[in-house]
Amino acid sequence: MRILEQNRSAYKRTYRQKDHCDFCDAKVIQDQQIKRLEGKFWRVLACKYPYMNGNLMLVPKRHITQMEKVTPGEWSDLQIVLLQTQKILGRLFKTKSFNLAMNLGPFSGGTIPHLHLMIVPRPKKINPAAFNVFHDFHLVQMSYKELQNKLDNL
Ligand SMILES: [Zn+2]
Repeated sequence: MRILEQNRSAYKRTYRQKDHCDFCDAKVIQDQQIKRLEGKFWRVLACKYPYMNGNLMLVPKRHITQMEKVTPGEWSDLQIVLLQTQKILGRLFKTKSFNLAMNLGPFSGGTIPHLHLMIVPRPKKINPAAFNVFHDFHLVQMSYKELQNKLDNL
């Protein structure tokens, strides 16, 4: 899958120069959070550089970089937050299809080491028979702010 999101590559180039964690940064959280989906141990952030429309991230409130450090209580809360997030994205994007992904470890392609589970709704393709040079090329049209607004008003 190739992705065109105009600010993503510039962000990836500059992120490694930072010495703090975006997902522990109160300003980032305030800017990107979907408050209605927040759980006891996990928050939900709208991805600022989304892979596709509707890209949300489930992020533990504690700074955790390895799955082995997630406590039983946090796993349990993840289940609740994930199911609720899937439900509301399904309503907004009128789909029962989703992709879930985590990038774990230094060679996985992740940008931020703080654990986060990506969820992307996959509505039916407009023209599944189409095959051309743009096949499987996704243009992200919805900004994270537009997504936040739609979810807040759903
Ligand atoms: Zn962090």
